[in-house]
Amino acid sequence: MPSRVVIVGGGIVGLATAYRLLQTQPASTVVVLEKEAGPGRHQSTHNSGVLHAGLYYKPGSLKARLAVSGIRQMVDFCRQHGIAHEICGKLVVATDADEQQRLHQLRERAEANGLTGVRLLGREEMLEIEPHVGGVAALHVPEEGIVDYAQVCARLVTEIEALGGTVRFLSRVRQIVPDGKGWKLLTTSGEVDADYLVNCAGLHSDRVAALAGEVPEVKIVPFRGEYYQLSPERQGLVRHLIYPVPDLHFPFLGVHFTRLIHGGVEAGPNAVLACAREGYRKLDLNLVDLADALGYPGLWRFMGRHRRMCWDEVRRSLSKRLFCASLQRLVPELRLGDLSPGGAGVRAQAMHPSGELVQDFSLIRQARALHVVNAPSPAATASLAIGAEIVARMAEEA
Ligand SMILES: Cc1cc2nc3c(=O)[nH]c(=O)nc-3n(C[C@H](O)[C@H](O)[C@H](O)COP(=O)(O)OP(=O)(O)OC[C@H]3O[C@@H](n4cnc5c(N)ncnc54)[C@H](O)[C@@H]3O)c2cc1C
Repeated sequence: MPSRVVIVGGGIVGLATAYRLLQTQPASTVVVLEKEAGPGRHQSTHNSGVLHAGLYYKPGSLKARLAVSGIRQMVDFCRQHGIAHEICGKLVVATDADEQQRLHQLRERAEANGLTGVRLLGREEMLEIEPHVGGVAALHVPEEGIVDYAQVCARLVTEIEALGGTVRFLSRVRQIVPDGKGWKLLTTSGEVDADYLVNCAGLHSDRVAALAGEVPEVKIVPFRGEYYQLSPERQGLVRHLIYPVPDLHFPFLGVHFTRLIHGGVEAGPNAVLACAREGYRKLDLNLVDLADALGYPGLWRFMGRHRRMCWDEVRRSLSKRLFCASLQRLVPELRLGDLSPGGAGVRAQAMHPSGELVQDFSLIRQARALHVVNAPSPAATASLAIGAEIVARMAEEA
């Protein structure tokens, strides 16, 4: 195994990788380089805070394997370190006969992936769990829950440091130079040498890979997800997690209701093209990011193929009424006045030049480097398992 490892990106995946590496290779020197002033400032804390159990993913895929083992590892980590979490269970709600049919397929996937306790419920049974839910049937997924991912990231930093590793904040990697046996990284806080490089740069992972001379076939296309909050007096409409039946051709799950671990209920996220990779407000614009996305033929092919869906997403982003209407399919009693604007997150979603979205997690190997080029949801849940997978792949190379 390499003795000096540098990880670019102090989001949950980079931190979990450093942690797993130090646990299995305590003699190695591990440095995490993070451009922000603290851990997990991007996707890892701009998300729904859900612990996904691996329901949706194609059996045999990395997502399926790492989500199922990842949720168990994450729950153990939270228990061990006193991190706020709750296994509250989730309902996936079918609103018509077609969706009800698709619930059966989802249950088969859940069983193939090794989830336990997943049950199909009729209307009476689902009302016992969520009294205000609409729809005709539901799938109950008891293993899923909610968590405070900011606390997870902060604790990972503490554990990495306790194990002898270093997390360097305000260290943006600007250049990566191969130097015979390894790499020299030039950062805003000085130079760092490494025998092995792990790229966990999330929304910038394709650019960091390119800095190391590995131009991935795919590009990161940023998809913004916007949330609304339920007013305090109407939070009783949602007890746990209420999700729609997703279209499994897309990695996005559809707007849903999420109870937050420290109180409150959020509704969302939708999925619209972001005009900045780290743009959390509607009007945030980064010309380089926007030109990068619009100059990518894959995006035009994607939009051409899914014209109707893209247009509907844009309309729903601009219209609170349409957003509310989507949510009312799940909870008919919801009213427009119950919703106020919440936060947003930006997904780092890899896309092929053909316009296909990369569905699975994707790790690309280069000599003395490994690049995580696609780690969208449920990578926060699965982060500890992804970290262990990266360590195992590094060991294969040694
Ligand atoms: C709206 C939304 C909802 C989601 N909901 C869930 C959910 O409920 N459950 C779940 O499991 N997953 C969810 N996800 C997915 C999950 O949040 C991500 O998969 C996960 O956080 C990815 O972690 P990461 O470490 O790869 O990326 P990030 O958290 O984005 O971390 C990458 C880090 O790299 C740093 N970086 C980038 N470039 C450089 C550079 N040049 N030098 C130094 N540092 C650099 C960035 O500053 C950043 O901190 C959601 C995502 C979104 C956007």
